[in-house]
Amino acid sequence: MSQRRTTWQKQAVQAALEAQDGFISAQELHLAILGTGKKLGLTTVYRALTDMVEQGQADSLAITDGEMRFRICTPEHHHHLICRSCSKTVEFDLPGFEALASSVAKENGFSELSHEIELFGICSDCR
Ligand SMILES: [Zn+2]
Ligand SMILES: [Zn+2]
Ligand SMILES: [Zn+2]
Repeated sequence: MSQRRTTWQKQAVQAALEAQDGFISAQELHLAILGTGKKLGLTTVYRALTDMVEQGQADSLAITDGEMRFRICTPEHHHHLICRSCSKTVEFDLPGFEALASSVAKENGFSELSHEIELFGICSDCR
């Protein structure tokens, strides 16, 4: 990314995303922003979201219907527990897995590991 200016549009998108509890689609977030009285196009919202994903400020996820959903995210490595019904998301660490993964990789001569773990289920509110 050569240009990294933070526009008011991006700030508005970021603030709206921070106010959400789980993953949200660009359309839903767009409506939420319009509801606050800010005039932003859906394309701008979408572009700001993909920027944030590239910069590690947001997570993206394609849930069941294949539509991309976004969520504000902590930059540290973590995993997600996601409700299939309401897309409420819990971030969690798995230190035992990290240790296991790096020892498996080392045994097989792999370096520069990465992985993503996303567990799907139904949260207590939706049950
Ligand atoms: Zn996350
Ligand atoms: Zn739920
Ligand atoms: Zn991990």
